[in-house]
Amino acid sequence: MGNPAAYTPFLDRFVLERICRRTDSGGFHQLLGRYIMGSLKGSNLTNVKRQNESAIRDVIYRYGPISRSEIAQMLSLTPPTITTNIARMMEQGLVYECGRLGAEAGALGRRRVKIDFVADAAFFVGVEMNPYQIAICITNLRGVMTAEARIPWKRREDGFVLSEELKELLRRIDGNDYRGSLELLAQVILNLMTVSGIDKKQVLGCAMALPGLIERKTGTLKKSTLEAWNDRPIARDLSRLLDLPVLLENNARARAMGQKLFYQGELPEDFAYYLISYGIACPLYIGSRILDGGQQGAGEAGHMVADLNGPRCETCGNAGCLEELASERAIVKTVTRLMESGRDTMIREICPDLDFLSSREILLAQECGDELAQKVIDQALLYLGAALANIINLMNPSLVFVDSYLMKLMKNRRRLVEDTRAHIFGLYNDEVEIEFVEFDHFTGAKGAAAAAIERYFINGEGAQTFG
Ligand SMILES: [Zn+2]
Repeated sequence: MGNPAAYTPFLDRFVLERICRRTDSGGFHQLLGRYIMGSLKGSNLTNVKRQNESAIRDVIYRYGPISRSEIAQMLSLTPPTITTNIARMMEQGLVYECGRLGAEAGALGRRRVKIDFVADAAFFVGVEMNPYQIAICITNLRGVMTAEARIPWKRREDGFVLSEELKELLRRIDGNDYRGSLELLAQVILNLMTVSGIDKKQVLGCAMALPGLIERKTGTLKKSTLEAWNDRPIARDLSRLLDLPVLLENNARARAMGQKLFYQGELPEDFAYYLISYGIACPLYIGSRILDGGQQGAGEAGHMVADLNGPRCETCGNAGCLEELASERAIVKTVTRLMESGRDTMIREICPDLDFLSSREILLAQECGDELAQKVIDQALLYLGAALANIINLMNPSLVFVDSYLMKLMKNRRRLVEDTRAHIFGLYNDEVEIEFVEFDHFTGAKGAAAAAIERYFINGEGAQTFG
């Protein structure tokens, strides 16, 4: 808890650090308090109140169960401010008193009551649409899923049965019927609430995560493979259909946000989230803030040039992009090409119809010792490791999460770590940790829910007004 920026999402970390460096008197919390008061000069009272409440919510979310006096100390806010805010949240049923601090408080002759959020006080909808599937979930405040639905795109997973409603949704998306798809998606979400017995009044917002470039302010998808959805105000349209606030987010960023919010344990301020899927991306948290970039496109690692003479990228049209060499789609393309040229492989038996070939079948072959599958995946891992080393050398994160279906095989994990470490600049090598995210179909949808929790609950931005 030593760093003020860790629990002051609305403060400028760099300004704060400058203040800390220039002043050698007083504790660090007092400095923080002074900075908060200074930054609030000229703001109106409503804003001050909102910022206080948002800071308090943030601290409870990160450190709860926690006592009122601990919150007051952390934020340099007065005890009455904390008491008033907590009382209001208790009235709203958002927080509860969940126990007392024992021994050490007893020694001081006082007993401090700890408070925490009521996990089921509010719910959030998270949707991820990626080239493989649509995943929808409803989570509580702590990210626990209470309802879920999933629609695999190619509808060929073993034993997977789709309802007529979901089949129709796929038909509309496949048919580029933007309006019709969104209407049915809204219906599916509302039905999910009804079936799981969640009162819509308890749902504070929805987030939709999509691959591609997102203009977050307007909730518009600027560039993606879903052509009928490009340049449409998706957030506004879905918000009207659901009668709920809706935000749009890039799916790799949403996954990183999910990791940030729901991670069990302490996260470093600087971490990267390396998503290797149909495409590749690597959003970064620097100083506990997700990096946006000027056009909000930071983290598009898939379009780093990995080979100047490489193939033309299916997504951006440039030559030699990392994702055209090492993503799942690149692996599938390479295997298909080699098989069409007559190379021997057991993939022919596993997947006789090449139109349905996916990384699942290739990974299965690799696991069974298939030489061709092994070779193609090893080649991809070489590129993936070198690219990750580049990211680490450039940004120096303390931790990298790797989220990829390919990493279901332990030997691929080991290989990626070796290939990465072989290129990391000396000093960083011992300091950076690489952690694998266990594959889960709902990681992206839960990440979207995290984005909604952050905006609509912690920051309390409430309903967006769309003109
Ligand atoms: Zn590209």
